[in-house]
Amino acid sequence: MALDTSKMAPVSRRDLLVGTAATGLAATTTGLMTSTASAEAPFVKTQAPYFYRFNIGKFEATVVSDGPLPLGDPTKTFIPTKGENITGLLEKHFLPTDNVVLEQNILVVNTGSKLVIFDTGMGDSDIFGPTTGKLKSNLKAAGIDPAQIDAVVVSHAHPDHLWGLMTADGSSNFPNAQIFISQVDYDFWTADAQLNGEGFVKLNAENTVKQLKPNMEKITFLKGGEEFLPGIQAIATPGHTPGHMSFMITSDGETFCNLADISHHYVLLFEKPWTEFAYDTDAKAAVASRTKMLDMLATDKIPFVSFHFPWPGIGYAGRHGADGKGFHYHPKPMKLAI
Ligand SMILES: [Zn+2]
Repeated sequence: MALDTSKMAPVSRRDLLVGTAATGLAATTTGLMTSTASAEAPFVKTQAPYFYRFNIGKFEATVVSDGPLPLGDPTKTFIPTKGENITGLLEKHFLPTDNVVLEQNILVVNTGSKLVIFDTGMGDSDIFGPTTGKLKSNLKAAGIDPAQIDAVVVSHAHPDHLWGLMTADGSSNFPNAQIFISQVDYDFWTADAQLNGEGFVKLNAENTVKQLKPNMEKITFLKGGEEFLPGIQAIATPGHTPGHMSFMITSDGETFCNLADISHHYVLLFEKPWTEFAYDTDAKAAVASRTKMLDMLATDKIPFVSFHFPWPGIGYAGRHGADGKGFHYHPKPMKLAI
């Protein structure tokens, strides 16, 4: 039924404000405020569960969060290559300019025969503060038992994707799972050159060894283009790390892409995909992989999940900018009735 506005008296914003004040005054003077106000109810201080369920054809998929990851000053991590104004872009999108906070959207797919998790979150590490490492509690909330997981697919060997494989005391968080990772990433991040490196590179290499070496007999190396599990294909998207992988998931005629870390930000590395990211091993190669993947997703209108996008990180890529060389992120509306 359409609203018949012809019968409504015109209301200005000022009328509304005056009306609110008058109502408040009337309530106070008659004592209603004290007898019926509900302000004394305690604040609930809880949030909606941090998982989101949807379908990919006949597969059941769930995005489960490892918690927000504060990355700090955006001008230190996002590097302009064509004079982009990082602060200006954030302001234009009503985003804070002092601290960029990324989500960690971990995809779980139940194919009906295999329960597959893509990436493992930060685990017991607190290098990015106390808000990460929430995967286990959120899996529990989502009704997913880590012991039932058949496959852990690691998109690349970085802290927020790999370090939740093992606990700090060396036991496995996914004891019955086969582990999939590209050999290129395994070789790179366990090599002496990185182990003897500095700063983040050294720290990441040491922890990659800790996470993967005890699991050698469980590891299968991924190859680009290979369908390594039924309906799940690996796509080599090098640059962020040398062996970074994205994934195409297909069931019953539907295709869905798990981008992993093709783009860390839905504005900065989407509208201006040529912008570089400080944690990229080879930023130029990352830009090339990003542009190629987003171009394909935009052309073929394929929905995707992006690991670091605003929760739950599911949407589409559209063309953006006068020359169409940028992309616009269109979040897919969440469906909370299944
Ligand atoms: Zn990441």
